[in-house]
Amino acid sequence: MIFFILSLSINLSGKMYTFREYGMGQHKYIMTNSMLEEMDFSYYWDLNTQILTIQKENIVSIMPDNPFVKVNRDVFQLEVPPLREEGKLFVPVSSLPLILGSLTNMEAKFNQGILEVGVKVNIYKIEWDVTPGKTIFKIECSPSLKHLFNKVEDEWVLVIFDPIYDKSISEVSPKGLIGDIKFEKGNGFIKFRFKAKDDLAMDAIRDGKYLNIKVKTFEERSIKTIVIDPGHGGEDPGAVCKGVQEKDIVLKASKKIAAKLAREGFDVIMTRTEDVFIPLKDRTKIADSARADLFVSIHCNAAPNKRDMNGSETYFLSAARSDWARTVEATENSAIRFEAKSGAGLSELDYILNDLAQTQFLEESQQAGICIQESMVQKCDLYNRGLKQANFYVLRLNYMPAVLVEIAFITHAEDRKKLLDDKFLEKACDAIVEGIEAYAKSRT
Ligand SMILES: [Zn+2]
Repeated sequence: MIFFILSLSINLSGKMYTFREYGMGQHKYIMTNSMLEEMDFSYYWDLNTQILTIQKENIVSIMPDNPFVKVNRDVFQLEVPPLREEGKLFVPVSSLPLILGSLTNMEAKFNQGILEVGVKVNIYKIEWDVTPGKTIFKIECSPSLKHLFNKVEDEWVLVIFDPIYDKSISEVSPKGLIGDIKFEKGNGFIKFRFKAKDDLAMDAIRDGKYLNIKVKTFEERSIKTIVIDPGHGGEDPGAVCKGVQEKDIVLKASKKIAAKLAREGFDVIMTRTEDVFIPLKDRTKIADSARADLFVSIHCNAAPNKRDMNGSETYFLSAARSDWARTVEATENSAIRFEAKSGAGLSELDYILNDLAQTQFLEESQQAGICIQESMVQKCDLYNRGLKQANFYVLRLNYMPAVLVEIAFITHAEDRKKLLDDKFLEKACDAIVEGIEAYAKSRT
């Protein structure tokens, strides 16, 4: 009679294995062949003699119903003999330290329910990596160690399960951006409780043999360089209504946005700073060669035949789109008309290649779009037309996420009034910058 009971974990030189543990009578067993196969030991079970021979560093022989184990030429007696059940050989769990220890020629013993073979500790040491904007608490440990990391009130708590360590691990004191650190020992786990300085966010990252607890200041962000692209310019006025030209408003707005971003510590590149015509292809080239982290194209919307349309919308690239997105896309892509004249047209192949490249940034573009759109509608009194997708040529970049912002409608009387109002434009630009900052923060 076999009863499936629990599982047995074996840590073999840092590699963790788990096997089913079977209860038979008073004792617990594991199935020998599955253990040997998973651990990659060579073995041979002679069905005539019933002797199982296993070879690694030493040769170990066992047989069912016989309490004697042979290790090379030596014989050892087990408290409980192996069993044969349903054609399989089971070895008692209590015999595993002897069998696996002999096979590997390493120390094998049970520690908190885990059989450790050739393992003295699984947490080796703690190191610090402290630089001005960043502090990493590095725990060098076995890759099989399980951990939990989360925020509990104002503390960040790291729990490491089944640790084997020496005392030095517990002797920790805070450094760098970690303002406080406490060590606690539990039953089958240890706990580190951290407090970050200035309520900074902390993160636990597995990096090979290290479990890194990382704190960064906002200055150490991954979004550093931003391209601001004022739409249209020169002979391409963009949308025009009652003498108001899109190209002028977006240049004014873009300059404000660029200045604000620079004050926040971003590196900013503008595709144009004057009233000049820049082909769409050159705009993408400027952005791509800068290897920037985000591209934001600034526009004003137009619906000449639907003067009641108003509000703010943000786009990221997609081939699939709504009828309205198609309309906006046709308007914004119309700079191509001017490009044909200047001989800087785009080939169909360029579009396809750039489309493919941009797909890897769609998720980030969407995230940036969400942040900017939300910030705009929250801070400015603008109707929220939402985040949309359209096939804008200018968003087909190779190296970075890209969004296109339509601040408001130049064709809507009230929106146009707002766009011409310096105070409003200032507020809209602040909102765009805050949206970009929120996105940057989400990527650190
Ligand atoms: Zn435009």
